[in-house]
Amino acid sequence: MTFEELGLSRDLLDAIVNAGYTEPTPIQEQAIPHLLMGRDLLGIAQTGTGKTAGFTLPMIEILNAGRARARMPRSLILEPTRELAAQVAENFNVYGKNHKLSMALLIGGVSFIEQNEKLNRGVDVLIATPGRLIDQFERGRILLADIKILVVDEADRMLDMGFIPDVEKIMKLLPPLRQTAMFSATMPKEIKRLTESYMMDPKKIEVAPGSSAAETVTQKLVMVNGVKEKQSTLEYLIKHNTVKNAIVFCNRKRDVKSVDQILRRKGVNARALHGDLPQSVRTSTLNEFREGKINILVASDVAARGLDIDDMSHVFNFDVPTHADDYIHRIGRTGRAGRTGYAYTIATADDSKYIKQIEKLIGNKIENFEDKNISKNKKEETNKNTLETNFPDQNKPSKNSKRKPQTNTNVSLETNNKGSQLNNNSKNKKQPNNEKQQNEGNDNLEIGMGDHIPDFLNR
Ligand code: AMP
Repeated sequence: MTFEELGLSRDLLDAIVNAGYTEPTPIQEQAIPHLLMGRDLLGIAQTGTGKTAGFTLPMIEILNAGRARARMPRSLILEPTRELAAQVAENFNVYGKNHKLSMALLIGGVSFIEQNEKLNRGVDVLIATPGRLIDQFERGRILLADIKILVVDEADRMLDMGFIPDVEKIMKLLPPLRQTAMFSATMPKEIKRLTESYMMDPKKIEVAPGSSAAETVTQKLVMVNGVKEKQSTLEYLIKHNTVKNAIVFCNRKRDVKSVDQILRRKGVNARALHGDLPQSVRTSTLNEFREGKINILVASDVAARGLDIDDMSHVFNFDVPTHADDYIHRIGRTGRAGRTGYAYTIATADDSKYIKQIEKLIGNKIENFEDKNISKNKKEETNKNTLETNFPDQNKPSKNSKRKPQTNTNVSLETNNKGSQLNNNSKNKKQPNNEKQQNEGNDNLEIGMGDHIPDFLNR
């Protein structure tokens, strides 16, 4: 199927060509015609499927007829985090480049004055996090009576973050005669209840959870005996793989901080990303990671959720995620757009319950990664820089992977390789000391992200 066949106008088709897309993704193929018809839609899909264009393209088409009035936005997109809201706004700018629609972001960290000025001029599309929207509504700065289209994105993440009461409150404030689209990677009963209470006979479409990512990702399980071994194994895996760039996932903020520190101390070009960091640090960290100035991002699930970073070679799970869904989200960071990727999960015997849940969800056993040098490494931590090994899986396709074998043309990133992209060659240079800028974070599983001021708001 082509974009032309979906019933989009010339201006949008030009913008799509400009974005470099040649054909719609499965979710776009299914969602766009229904949304163009004005129907409610429930999309079971995760990030990486192209769902953002799936709802923004028809929204632009529908909103093109008509104009916004002061303080009365015509459509609303709810996102769980400020980063995701900003990402959707950037998508909107790409797809809507040939239209004169106005858009505002209502997220923490952007000055109220700026936001109010935009709202006063009238916006066609309002992209918001639930808390900030309610805040502005209660201050009487925004009226929701003209909302014709509502999109609730990442509903399951909203649930994880405790935002569902806010989302429900917002839904109650909107006119009942509207079009609603909701996207969620999973369908827990609280989300199902919302769809039943606030949507009208939604068309349900489903894109297989994670299976497309899983096919191009070689997954390995590395069993260790405790936290110390986790740390040395992670360091070893990073240094003895051909890692171009990677996210190291930790379950807790405390571990994000300590793993980042340990890796940096060991000369790895790493940086932490979690919700306690000031927004300016998070934004620059992400930019530097995207630009390849940082190779390893140590992050929590929420911090990394939905981040659209193409071409990531590896994902390392320093901790086994306690929700099987998160495993799929995590490994989906690599192997995108048909590229090959590697996901290593470091586990202890205590994690077996979670591993079983993950294997049940993905319908496969995660292959154990055996390498004599790993155990050797565990015993001889002090001597690890002299190890000379290639991981066998780097040169051999895994049983459950369709990928072609990786050639040896990639730069080897072993510790003794002076040209390593991962080694932090500027050890003597002053490193930005994120720790100083961090609040003394508690050790809860991370919820929420801080403020994000995307470039286009500063223009
Ligand atoms: P999303 O799931 O919306 O976060 O999109 C994931 C990535 O897919 C983004 O980088 C989009 O730019 C990209 N994308 C969306 N639609 C298409 C398409 N039809 N063809 C190629 N890439 C796409």
